[in-house]
Amino acid sequence: MHVRGQNMHISDHDLERYYLGMVTDEAELATLEEHILACASCAERADEAQDYVDAMRAAAIVVEPGIPKVTIS
Ligand SMILES: [Zn+2]
Repeated sequence: MHVRGQNMHISDHDLERYYLGMVTDEAELATLEEHILACASCAERADEAQDYVDAMRAAAIVVEPGIPKVTIS
């Protein structure tokens, strides 16, 4: 069966964009947030995407040893 669901799941790519702050369209943001709240499987993948984004950011900080560590709080 090839049923096109009305509720498309969120792609990993879009989850990453969401956590990277690259989704700036309000309608798209609302759609993503509503879906994550309503869909357990996407919420789980959203957690993984968040971990991935956090890891990337942490790695980006560690990559340049010449740059002094700056603590922003
Ligand atoms: Zn979903």
